[in-house]
Amino acid sequence: MIYYDKVSKVYPDKTVALEEVSFSVEPKEFLTIVGQSGAGKTTLMKLLIAEDWPTSGAVFFESSNVHRLNRRETNRLRRRIGTVFQDYRLIPNKTVYENIAFAMEAAGRTDGEVASDVPHVLELVDLGSKIWNFPHELSGGERQRVAIARAIVTQPDVILADEPTGNLDPANTYEIIRILRKINELGRTVILTTHNKGVVDEIGGRIITMEKGKVIKDSRDGKYVL
Ligand code: ADP
Repeated sequence: MIYYDKVSKVYPDKTVALEEVSFSVEPKEFLTIVGQSGAGKTTLMKLLIAEDWPTSGAVFFESSNVHRLNRRETNRLRRRIGTVFQDYRLIPNKTVYENIAFAMEAAGRTDGEVASDVPHVLELVDLGSKIWNFPHELSGGERQRVAIARAIVTQPDVILADEPTGNLDPANTYEIIRILRKINELGRTVILTTHNKGVVDEIGGRIITMEKGKVIKDSRDGKYVL
């Protein structure tokens, strides 16, 4: 379970990014956070993986305050949360296979695990045929599917996808959403952010709407929770 308890974030230049944000996310939930650019979505994501600190309030992962963990515990937390970003963040001079293998090696997986799991995870995102290609040989949608494969290959409990469809056309957007739903059905919690209301209509489920650093709506299947 993830819980944001009255979280505020004011950046050093006095920009108020979040104001008393509270909500929780249940295990295996598919949560979409929608809001215009600047609403505070990325800041929320960064706080969960302890890449930045709240000005006040607290963020909990299970029963731990993520900002009170030591370095070893923070690393363990980050291994439980796979991340996907708008700009893919693949290593350009490594093949698809090597990009995913690299993430697995960093997480301490053996060569045998890498050899068996990389093809498997690429099948899951329908990219088995591109295993030996380099990122520049792939379309945007394909690159994002590699990034998703890399995020899930170490079997984290939670996938954070921060504007994963921001650079994609509608067909590729739909495909990425379909894959994230599949991952959710396989038992992972998924948190997706988007500024695109059209994406939200596609997804249904639980939707938190942010505006200027505040949660202004929390709804499930069209019904208001907040
Ligand atoms: P979103 O992801 O919804 O676009 P962000 O969380 O990136 O929103 O940004 C929220 C607000 O905080 C915006 O006004 C943004 O300009 C500001 N902001 C984000 N990062 C920083 C930073 N490092 N320093 C100062 N202001 C920032």
